[in-house]
Amino acid sequence: MSEHVIVVGSGFGGLASALRARKLGFDVTVIERLEQLGGRAQTFNRDGFVFDAGPTVITAPFLFDELFELFDRHIEDYVEILPVSPWYRYEFNDGSHLNYGGTVEDTLKEIERINPEDVEGYKKLLAHSEQIFDVGFSQLAHVPFNKFWFMLKQVPDLIRLGCYRTVWQFTKRYLKDERLRRAFSIQPLLVGGNPFSTTSIYSLIHYLERRWGVHFPRGGTGALVQALGKLMTEQGIDIRLGQSVAQIQIADGRATGVTLEDGTFLAADRVICNGDPAYTYKNLIASTYRKTWTDRRIDRLKYSMGLYVLYFGTDRTYDDVEHHTIIFGDTYQELLQRIFDGGEVGNDLSLYLHRPTATDPALAPDGKDAFYVLAPVPNLQRGDWADVKHQVKERVLDILESGVLPGVRNHLEVCFDFDPTDFAQQYQSQWGAGFSIAPIFAQSAFFRFHNRAEDFDNLYFVGAGTHPGAGVPGVLSSAKVIEHLLLEDCPATSQALPCPN
Ligand SMILES: Cc1cc2nc3c(=O)[nH]c(=O)nc-3n(C[C@H](O)[C@H](O)[C@H](O)COP(=O)(O)OP(=O)(O)OC[C@H]3O[C@@H](n4cnc5c(N)ncnc54)[C@H](O)[C@@H]3O)c2cc1C
Repeated sequence: MSEHVIVVGSGFGGLASALRARKLGFDVTVIERLEQLGGRAQTFNRDGFVFDAGPTVITAPFLFDELFELFDRHIEDYVEILPVSPWYRYEFNDGSHLNYGGTVEDTLKEIERINPEDVEGYKKLLAHSEQIFDVGFSQLAHVPFNKFWFMLKQVPDLIRLGCYRTVWQFTKRYLKDERLRRAFSIQPLLVGGNPFSTTSIYSLIHYLERRWGVHFPRGGTGALVQALGKLMTEQGIDIRLGQSVAQIQIADGRATGVTLEDGTFLAADRVICNGDPAYTYKNLIASTYRKTWTDRRIDRLKYSMGLYVLYFGTDRTYDDVEHHTIIFGDTYQELLQRIFDGGEVGNDLSLYLHRPTATDPALAPDGKDAFYVLAPVPNLQRGDWADVKHQVKERVLDILESGVLPGVRNHLEVCFDFDPTDFAQQYQSQWGAGFSIAPIFAQSAFFRFHNRAEDFDNLYFVGAGTHPGAGVPGVLSSAKVIEHLLLEDCPATSQALPCPN
């Protein structure tokens, strides 16, 4: 008889690990507290507008292809993945801009236009990023980091690649122009880290974007979630929506199953948790069983920043606005310091503006545009959100009106927001953090929450809080780590398919 695996949560990490466990022959049940699959990639439908709640920049799409190939299916039969161009448009505070994407030559031309002195430096930055990628992504992103000696073995490579530097120091070494330094050091923010404190191993993201480009599914990221949901149903995975796990039950050092909020107990041979590990340990596993992750230790961790996201639909289109626009404020280091260390929002914000209708106009009614705008803000550990929410919303709209979306307040047809309090309530994210714990060196790889729980042999963690970390490629890779661990722990299961890259 097959072993029963319960997956708690259906973010991309949960969906991918459910499919990988199913492929290995387990009976799989996915339990999700929201009424839809996807976690942070859930979708809001309002008055004919479709809004993806979270991830919109799809990189390394082969990680999705692999999930379909596990079952001899083709992703193209489920969802269409479209290339996006440019990948990003950067709007700088002096009124200049940079279109980033396409070929290396396209990027070099844009850099030459901004500051010819940085052309050679950019080539070196890209080459260094590729070297880090070869180790950090190709060799290490999909393998377990639960043994200290394995971490030690990586140290010579990490030193050789200069990973003791921060992402900012890495970028500054190669580029002179402040605007270009900002544009090419923001990658850690995509996974919840401050470029001024995140190890430059995360500079691999730069090459990862270059290697496979930036994509967007027709129908939005939600269409990708639905495609995975369809594949899961076809493969006999039991999906239970709108049910929240209240406790992971432990006996004799092992997880025996989960108790739902309504008191129902579901037995399992193994539990894979896709919820935030910090919240899960503190709230779902009785402290008497926890030797490694005590409440005190969890409280001392550094968390990623919070996010304020304003979703809106307009009664007109803004055709000259690209799919992904990054709008830099006046300050950079000061802003990040305020967010990560100071706990203040302030008036000088940097924003990410998403206009999915640039790629797929069907996401809004005819002649209209769907948008979201995102501002990194302090998480709830650093302050009470309710006091500043209104101020942040108005400031965000001011910045848009004075720049890329003139007069937008007069064209809002639908408008609603999501703040760190919503992250805490909806996703059970500790301190309402956007991306679980921060990706600093002291919380990476062996030092992050282990993919196989330190104290419980048959409890696994997948998703942003575990190795390798947040972001869609990260959480899909963490599902590959889970596959390794399941194979290690249950050698009788079938062999995993080789991973193409
Ligand atoms: C606004 C935003 C924009 C982003 N943009 C990008 C981007 O463009 N590109 C990119 O690569 N990454 C992006 N990210 C990061 C990326 O979305 C996340 O790191 C990733 O999707 C997280 O996946 P996950 O597997 O950790 O699960 P999550 O998405 O965090 O899902 C976890 C799920 O577990 C459920 N759950 C928790 N506790 C329980 C419980 N007790 N019982 C049942 N269910 C439970 C939650 O409801 C949730 O559905 C973005 C994130 C945000 C928030």
